[in-house]
Formats: sequence, C-alpha cells, structure tokens
Amino acid sequence: MPTKSKDIFPVFHEILGRAEKEILLNQHGKVIWLTGLSGAGKTTLAKHVEKELFVKGFLTQVLDGDNIRTGINNNLGFTDSDRFENIRRIAEISKLFVNCGVITINCFISPTEEIRDMARRIIGADDFIEVYVNAPLRVCEERDVKGLYTRARRGEIKEFTGITSPFETPENIDIEIRTDLLSVEESVKQILELILPRIG
Ligand code: ADP
Repeated sequence: MPTKSKDIFPVFHEILGRAEKEILLNQHGKVIWLTGLSGAGKTTLAKHVEKELFVKGFLTQVLDGDNIRTGINNNLGFTDSDRFENIRRIAEISKLFVNCGVITINCFISPTEEIRDMARRIIGADDFIEVYVNAPLRVCEERDVKGLYTRARRGEIKEFTGITSPFETPENIDIEIRTDLLSVEESVKQILELILPRIG
C-alpha cells in the first residue's frame, strides 16, 4: 500500500477564506454604515432594508445600540474616548462579519468625520458603504422617538448629539437619504438601488 506523502494535505485542512464563504452565500459581504442624528431614521431603515434583503435571499446582521451597548460594549460610557472605542470595536466586529461574507447594517450616530474615517479604515473603503440618514434637527426633535431630546433639553443627558455635542456633516457618503422628504418605502428603495449591485 502506497503511503500518503507528508506534503499533501486535504483541502479541508486549510482555513476557509472569505471567497469560499461568499460563494456559499452567493453574495458579497459589505458594511452599510448608517450615520445620522438620533431620530433621523437609521433603525427604521435598517429593519426595512434587512427584511427586503432577507426576502431576496441575502444573509445580513444589524448592529445597533441594542446588541452592542448592552453586550460587548457594556463597559463603555459616553466620554470622547469611550465613544471612539465603541465605534472601533463595532468596526472590528463588522470586519469579521464581512470576512464571513455577511452584509452588516450598522445604526450608529457616529457624529464626527474622525470616527467615520476610523470605521472606514478598519473595514476597508471597498467594503464600506456610507449612508447619511438625514433629517433636520427640528424634525428629529419633533419625532423624539425615545424621548431623549426632551431629556437632553432638560439637561438630563450630557453631550447629546445635535443639542450639546456636534454632528459633523458627513463628507464621504455614498448616498444621502432625506427622511423628512421621503417616505420609509422611498428611502428603502433608494438604499436598495445603491447596494444591490454591490452585494449580489
Ligand atoms: P434613529 O435610529 O436614527 O434614532 P428611528 O428609526 O428610531 O431613528 O426613528 C425614526 C422615526 O422617523 C421613526 O418614527 C420613523 O417612523 C420616522 N420616519 C419618518 N419618515 C422616515 C423615513 N423616510 N425613514 C426612516 N424613518 C422615518
């Protein structure tokens, strides 16, 4: 009986790469990074986009405050350095998902160019799709989905973005969605038109 060469290893002993996983999933991993004020519509759009993609057969993961701040980042607060660390970890987690071929939809205010640039750098510009979910502060405040603006105006929340902490207009966006002018359906349609050619 011939013995197997020591130099030949079956392929399944090799670590599988992104390319194989993308073939398995029949999609390209990308991060859709939704930036904008609280109440601008990031979570609403992420949920709708995820459902539409699911129906079309795409595997996705939404990352937001609910599954990040309560879990891996539950030791972080809202100081400048903690906000930075919050986004750094989110970007690293997103990169792991993308390397698995998963489409990751992120809903974080990410208020400064520096923070968004860091995320883009970690994830890689080719895999980073930046969506500016934009409604005027006045509209977001009127919506006050979580009652946070009322509390911020009362001084109960320090350094609240848009009130006592700046939101810098994003300069490297792939698309701007004006949620005060568009319906949810129209907004979702515009995002899908942008991303479908890049994930399919
Ligand atoms: P964020 O996640 O950015 O804090 P939310 O998605 O929680 O914001 O809240 C946005 C609110 O605005 C929701 O009540 C939503 O129904 C409303 N809204 C109105 N028009 C739009 C739109 N075109 N896109 C997204 N949300 C919209």
